[in-house]
Amino acid sequence: MTELDTLPTTPLATTPLADARDALRAAVDHLGYENSVYEMLAVARRELTVSIPLRRDDGSVEILIGHRVQHNFSRGPGKGGLRYDPAVTLDEVRALAMLMTWKCALLDVPYGGAKGGIRIDPRNYSKAELERVTRRYTSEISPLLGPEIDIPAPDVGTDEQTMAWMMDTYSVNRGHTVLGVVTGKPVSLGGSLGRASATSRGVAHIALAAMSSRGIAPHGASAAIQGFGKVGRGAARFLAEAGLRVTAVSDQYGAIECGAGLNVAALEVHVDRTGSVVGFAGSTALADKDDLLFSEVDVLVPAALEGVINAETASRVHAEIVVEGANGPTTPEADAILAERGCLVVPDILANAGGVVVSYFEWVQANQAYWWSADEVEQRLAERMTAAWWRVAEHATYRQLSLRDSATSLAVQTVAASHRMRGLYP
Ligand code: GLU
Repeated sequence: MTELDTLPTTPLATTPLADARDALRAAVDHLGYENSVYEMLAVARRELTVSIPLRRDDGSVEILIGHRVQHNFSRGPGKGGLRYDPAVTLDEVRALAMLMTWKCALLDVPYGGAKGGIRIDPRNYSKAELERVTRRYTSEISPLLGPEIDIPAPDVGTDEQTMAWMMDTYSVNRGHTVLGVVTGKPVSLGGSLGRASATSRGVAHIALAAMSSRGIAPHGASAAIQGFGKVGRGAARFLAEAGLRVTAVSDQYGAIECGAGLNVAALEVHVDRTGSVVGFAGSTALADKDDLLFSEVDVLVPAALEGVINAETASRVHAEIVVEGANGPTTPEADAILAERGCLVVPDILANAGGVVVSYFEWVQANQAYWWSADEVEQRLAERMTAAWWRVAEHATYRQLSLRDSATSLAVQTVAASHRMRGLYP
């Protein structure tokens, strides 16, 4: 019995891992590949689960669980974020690692896919506690890390400070500074200009390309954005700068709307001052924060967590275009409902790939110890995002596929071609 036999796929397609495997299965079938390609890519190459003993500030000791999954290395080192979230499970990390393999292949960055996660709610821990958790986790997984092995980056619940601690811990144990071991570092510590806003900028590039494909001009168009964190906040800013009316936004505390368009710059000041979008002057609060998904807008950007557009919510989504700022916000059941209605869904592995693209630029700069200007970073990002959009859109039209199936097929094709050329050892 292989591991594949022990894990549910269809018809129990309710977990992110089952969904990711189903998408891989569909791509393998569409490409006409043999089943062994599915079997090889459905399971991660390496997985490490570690326990992390944490001394709390009150002196007590708590044991946390962390994972690092390296899904594939055929095109280069593993690459992917580290997530701090109470809902982290090994299966979720496996699914997200697989998505990273596709994302890197699709954007033609020379990496495989990986992901990490610690089951923790960072809001309940002090900065000193989070530093100890991060350093111990880094130490535990350090045999699997390295600029040519696996390169973490920020994800849900982690940030540039987390990356600085990881880089420092790894470097101290190696006896020299290794800037290329993580990306998403502070600019003062070998980070890249433009990395912090890269995912949001990429979302905006892709949203504008998708709108243009539907004949929607930015000026006069409207957008709603779920999540006002690392991805949603910048997406709101860049879409507003492109001329859209951002009519609704939400965060974990609530949702607000303003039909004439929110003043995003003023909203950012409000959020910096109060910690939430709630109570922003001139806006109206929505009764339920999840009602944001049902806004009458041209573009909906779910930029929070997984599975929010699902079998229950999809039929009430009115947007013409959904641009997946988060990883996995739309379930396969919801995809079918939205497709039926003619809604264009731009998948996560394309829409939010700007982060890993600039992570790649950061790694290249760190390895060369030569830093690019913000303009150079932004221009190269725009080129890559636009080129990937056209590849996915043209393949979708030519093969009569959804954008998600097109993107996954192109990525699987790229990874499978690398496997084929490298051959099996021994
Ligand atoms: N966590 C981000 C993602 O899901 C960035 C990963 C990276 O830069 O390696 O794409």
